[in-house]
Amino acid sequence: MTEPADIIDLNQLDHAKFQSWGYSQDFCVTCGLCSSSCPASGIDGFDPRKLIRMLSLGLEDAVIASRWPWICTMCGKCENVCPMEIDIADAVRQVRSLRERDKVPGIVHKGLEAALETGNNLRLPKDDFIFILEDVGEEIAEEPGYEDFNVPIDKKGANILTTIHNKLVNTHTEDLKHWWRIFHVAKEDWTVPSVNWEGTNWGYFTGDDEAMKIMSSRIVEQMEQLEVKTLLWPE
Ligand code: SF4
Ligand code: SF4
Repeated sequence: MTEPADIIDLNQLDHAKFQSWGYSQDFCVTCGLCSSSCPASGIDGFDPRKLIRMLSLGLEDAVIASRWPWICTMCGKCENVCPMEIDIADAVRQVRSLRERDKVPGIVHKGLEAALETGNNLRLPKDDFIFILEDVGEEIAEEPGYEDFNVPIDKKGANILTTIHNKLVNTHTEDLKHWWRIFHVAKEDWTVPSVNWEGTNWGYFTGDDEAMKIMSSRIVEQMEQLEVKTLLWPE
């Protein structure tokens, strides 16, 4: 009798023979575990299992034209449960990369354009950014035990450089305080760059590899200029 292990050995397969795409979608067994674990399942009918099956059936064009790839948050939960180890989030990202750039949904398309042009998707000028950081720092310094707190902007030779999520200097400034307090108590030597501080890589999210490289390179440049060796990139 044939043992299950004799039926299929994924390591021995010629993957190229099975894949029109590079994400093993043809191995999908339609178990639906991805769909049941996905926080976005059901939004506008979105279903990762169906998306993978459509890719497998050669319906790439329909997937590329649909809203589904933009509903997925690329969180990767589905990949953790997929018994066939299909790279679902990466497949979604590749689908996004194949959308014509002027047809990328407006908010992310505009966010990327702004980030490429100005270094951050809010188009926040450097002086305003510094003002916000210092203002939050002054609020922390009013708390007992933090009287000597200040925000070390562009500190050369610091141990850690942190990026900032745009919402933290927009609508969620309170959230900056949590980790800054930890830095202070831990006596960490840290810094924030005054330019190119955007941690959210909009090139990554829009499937634009070139833009992703530009945004990543800017962070590396900041580290080189400030001679910082460790990056804290929380996004
Ligand atoms: S990566 Fe996308 S499809 Fe997978 S669980 Fe997250 S939102 Fe759902
Ligand atoms: S979890 Fe994996 S094998 Fe199961 S339906 Fe989803 S993609 Fe297919």
